[in-house]
Amino acid sequence: MAHGVEAIIGLEVHVQLRTRTKLFCACRNAYGAEPNSLTCPVCLGLPGALPVLNGEAVRQGLALGLALGARLQPVSTFYRKQYVYPDLPKGYQITQGPVALVEGGTLEIPADPLVRGGGGTLRAGIERAHLEEDAGKSLHGDGRTRVDLNRAGVPLLEIVGAPDLRSPQEASDYLKALHRLVVFLGICDGNLEEGSFRCDANVSLRPAGSDAFGTRVEIKNLNSFRFVKQSLAFEIRRQASLLERGEPVIPETRGWDAAAGETRAQRTKEAAMDYRFFPEPDLPPLGLDPGEVEAVRRMLPELPEARIRRYRERLGVSEEDARTLMQSPAFADYFEALAGASGDGRAAARWMLGEVSRVLNERGIPIQAFSLEPAALGALVRLVLEGKVALGAAREEVFPALLAGEGPADAIVRQRGLGRVPADPVRLEALVRQVLAAHPEAVAQIRAGRDRLRGFLVGQILKAGGGALDPKAVQAALDAALPEFLAKP
Ligand SMILES: [Zn+2]
Repeated sequence: MAHGVEAIIGLEVHVQLRTRTKLFCACRNAYGAEPNSLTCPVCLGLPGALPVLNGEAVRQGLALGLALGARLQPVSTFYRKQYVYPDLPKGYQITQGPVALVEGGTLEIPADPLVRGGGGTLRAGIERAHLEEDAGKSLHGDGRTRVDLNRAGVPLLEIVGAPDLRSPQEASDYLKALHRLVVFLGICDGNLEEGSFRCDANVSLRPAGSDAFGTRVEIKNLNSFRFVKQSLAFEIRRQASLLERGEPVIPETRGWDAAAGETRAQRTKEAAMDYRFFPEPDLPPLGLDPGEVEAVRRMLPELPEARIRRYRERLGVSEEDARTLMQSPAFADYFEALAGASGDGRAAARWMLGEVSRVLNERGIPIQAFSLEPAALGALVRLVLEGKVALGAAREEVFPALLAGEGPADAIVRQRGLGRVPADPVRLEALVRQVLAAHPEAVAQIRAGRDRLRGFLVGQILKAGGGALDPKAVQAALDAALPEFLAKP
């Protein structure tokens, strides 16, 4: 970024809620059905049809509000936002007015040390989250445009973030944290390609240290974490070079052209529409029942950040691995079951992020379609931990055989003769002494305090043993023999 300039970023995210039916009618809320097969007089906006609010959508909005530590508004109202568009047959969209169901709240993300001069955690503010209905979808092709109204009336939660983000990295981290939150709360399927989670980004620049806001540009319809990062980086460079040349930034809406790698002007804000908002006469104000709020609170699952902390503190997994394990609720659940079955969280994490992920990627399947039960894989991980089979043999031979359905891990190890017999202690000691004698420089380094060299020696002993030795036994034999070698320089 240009020197002395600060970027101010705020994101607006549209989350498609995972309700059974639409926001104001009994039509099914589903993706991919025959076009216009999921419609009725209400979502088609036919005269005389009356909307009825979906309680499940309200409960999902409340779940998000509680997870964000937000204020839940005792009474919020619905408004009509009027505009003319082919995929909006009613001529207006029902959305929430000045008072939203959810107001305030924060989302914890890592602070970007490159722009803040230090790391740590940033509590990014949420301004509000309100319920609204989605419009239909225009399908362009063969020189024609068709309209599919299956999506008209589908419940959305629009989550408006405060302008608290200072870099594309923070914007991407915010979006990932919000995505993880709504998916783990079970209120959104999180499918970015199908548009279940989409984002508009507002960005302006100002001189570093200033409190004023510069002219804001909005980038519309970003449907991937990468596009958010790339488009913001481009937009910051573009605005900085305008400011450097003394040219004004025009307040406008821009789109991201992924192929060209640039944002393009779509419409200026001066020409922005007047939506003629007014309270929706067919819907009463939405009043919250404290009992219902309490019921939603009781049903909240363990929140993602708490789960990541538990993986780190109780299961010994690194921060980065813990976040990767949280790629989906099913993946995290499988990991927990594997950690339980093998009795070792760290080993379970290594298998999940190594062999299991490799197979899922190769087959292009989610963990739900993975054929091995956590208990079956856990038995193999345990054999490795107990030193009964070498890790290499477990990965390369036993695991593929397990996947091929050749039976339980211990039977495969037995049938293929992969089992490790406990090393003869006398032979092991001789081997350890032989390796120590062959590496006086490593011994000297350990004597000088470089303890890391122990690992090197273990590796040399395992190699000398032809891969048949149990690392734990080798470690113990090394610990026993080393003091004598350290004593004589
Ligand atoms: Zn309907």
